[in-house]
Amino acid sequence: MTLQEIIDDSSRIVFFGGAGVSTESGISDFRGVDGLYRQKYKYPPEVMLSRSFFDRQPEEFFAFYRDKLLVDGVKPNAAHYKLAELERAGKLICVVTQNIDGLHQDAGSVNVAELHGSVRRNYCMKCGRSYDKEFIKNSTGVPRCACGGIVKPDVVLYEEPLDSDTTDRALDAIARADTLIVAGTSLTVYPAAGFVSAFGGRHLVLINLTPTALDSRAELAIHAKAGETLKDIKAD
Ligand code: NAD
Repeated sequence: MTLQEIIDDSSRIVFFGGAGVSTESGISDFRGVDGLYRQKYKYPPEVMLSRSFFDRQPEEFFAFYRDKLLVDGVKPNAAHYKLAELERAGKLICVVTQNIDGLHQDAGSVNVAELHGSVRRNYCMKCGRSYDKEFIKNSTGVPRCACGGIVKPDVVLYEEPLDSDTTDRALDAIARADTLIVAGTSLTVYPAAGFVSAFGGRHLVLINLTPTALDSRAELAIHAKAGETLKDIKAD
């Protein structure tokens, strides 16, 4: 079956995505050809985005975070918009994303399970007051709350657990799905990558520029850009 035929045959699609879904919007992934792992930093990204690094060297954490994860002026791409359209058409029940950029919501998606949190939400570690993305972007050094506490992004750093409500919502949607579309993820960051094993539906589709461990299990494995692949799909 083609991707269009699979989508026509589905009424409970879940999309499981990663950093590759946002590269067409201008945000670097980690392991793709222009990914952060191929750029030169003092430490690898999984060290700089770990909780112990955040606690030990917050200035360096925030310098990296502002530079690479708070990219200015980014907009959703064709993949984000098509998924929102599929949800409005009543065919897609949930977007489960490892991304923290909020672009699915910007495109109009409503039911989004953000497994790794969001750069849009930040809170004071001392008093709990919340702050938006611009507050962190416009701050220098370590962002501080009016009370003096450090303002921490609500993103799941390496060494931190996933939020259990979000996890439950994601796993429940994947278990109920008739079609799972996995896209733009190297499927190497756990526990998120393991979520696809909760799928027991009819059609497993993979869209990724490079091969993944899931290719052999998928009914359809497409090695191409997610936005370019999804843009011509008819939602209804
Ligand atoms: P990853 O970087 O490990 O893998 C991305 C995969 O997407 C690669 O296999 C690459 O070949 C593929 N890819 C790149 N561009 C693509 C495109 N246009 N269409 C289809 N495939 C494409 O990403 P991951 O598996 O999501 O793991 C990285 C972790 O880093 C995640 O936990 C995520 O939270 C975080 N992260 C998030 C963002 C973001 O929010 N935009 C960006 C970088 C990293």
